[in-house]
Amino acid sequence: MRLSQIARSIKASPTLALNEKAAILREKREPVIHLGGGEPKSRAPMDAILSSVNMLNSGEIRYAPADGTPDLKKAIIRYTEEYYHRKVSPLNIIASSGAKQAIMVALQAILNPQEEVVFPAPYWVSYPDMAKLVGAIPVPALPEDGSFYPTLKDIEQRVGSYTRAIIINSPNNPTGAMYSEKFIAEIVEFCEKRDIYLIMDDIYHRLVFDGRKPISAFDYTKESVENSKIIVINGVSKQYAMTGFRIGWAVGNKKVIEAMSNIQGHQTSGPSVLLQKAAVGAINGIQSGVESLRVKLENNRNIMLSLLRSFNGVEVNSPDGTFYCFADFSAYEKDSNELSKLLIDKVMVLTVPGKEFGLDGYLRLSYCGAIKEITEGIERMKWALDTNSPNELFIGDRKLVRDWS
Ligand code: PMP
Repeated sequence: MRLSQIARSIKASPTLALNEKAAILREKREPVIHLGGGEPKSRAPMDAILSSVNMLNSGEIRYAPADGTPDLKKAIIRYTEEYYHRKVSPLNIIASSGAKQAIMVALQAILNPQEEVVFPAPYWVSYPDMAKLVGAIPVPALPEDGSFYPTLKDIEQRVGSYTRAIIINSPNNPTGAMYSEKFIAEIVEFCEKRDIYLIMDDIYHRLVFDGRKPISAFDYTKESVENSKIIVINGVSKQYAMTGFRIGWAVGNKKVIEAMSNIQGHQTSGPSVLLQKAAVGAINGIQSGVESLRVKLENNRNIMLSLLRSFNGVEVNSPDGTFYCFADFSAYEKDSNELSKLLIDKVMVLTVPGKEFGLDGYLRLSYCGAIKEITEGIERMKWALDTNSPNELFIGDRKLVRDWS
């Protein structure tokens, strides 16, 4: 079968594939523990449900403007004032089917084939393939000092005459690292000086720990939103536990937002009005769910960290936010694909190999699930990897016998 060059250059999202694998194992009633997931398990906010149910009951679910409904834009305007300290107009906003589509149409609006987009590594799995989808070239920048905190120099070294955009995701998937205000200020200044778009993927910005507060890149520019090349990405998926609603958005200058809207208009005609209504409910409604999710995640992080730190040979940094730990398992196995496969095959624990995020030897472990899953998952991993552990492990009434070393 003949497929396009682009189609052949793209691989399936490894995290979505893992979700599928977990679902298949669960269907077979296998006692799988999914530490690979990327979604909070709390219920969607009641305000989100009620506002969409009201609309659904009306029986009138129609087309709407491709760049988002006026009431969602109004809610995003308020959100932008609260968290980004900027007054923007509806023309500065596009609502998309998830933050994912917002990033995708931004890349389509600003990149030509063969141009480059730079982002720190480890990076969210989709950035390289999204760049390739527009024929552009993804350029990961791994911090030189071996940490998860890039410096301006790390980024600068990867920027050349073909660089059109930099993507910053902080707090970061997969590392949980939240970059410093100093770094954000430097990168904003650098992008302005070099006339490069700065895409701030802020999808986890309120899910931060140890007293941290969300950072707004707009605070570090003297430019108006209109004259700025900052594009802020956000959405309801993570903070409101609304991954399946598929509503995200971008805030940027009118020209780039108009271009993104034109593109999106031909792709999907905009996200479903019903789900936009739900997002309006979540953004304008009672916010206590976000804080309780944040507190729960911080507690889960502490539990996972202490379990991992009692694991001989595993190196792990304390995540500043998100719901991921990115732990170094290279003392056990340098090939993270092999290690992840062993853990699924032998003890039915799903993890995401670090290789998918641009750093081998590591595994991404999610702590967005139940505490029981976290503790049992790490216990099983320990049993599988530590050669000093007993020869047998019981999962329910199933007896596992170690037949590997
Ligand atoms: N950016 C990052 C860093 C993410 O981790 C995700 C979701 N895994 C997204 C964007 C996309 O979020 P959405 O569900 O809104 O498309």
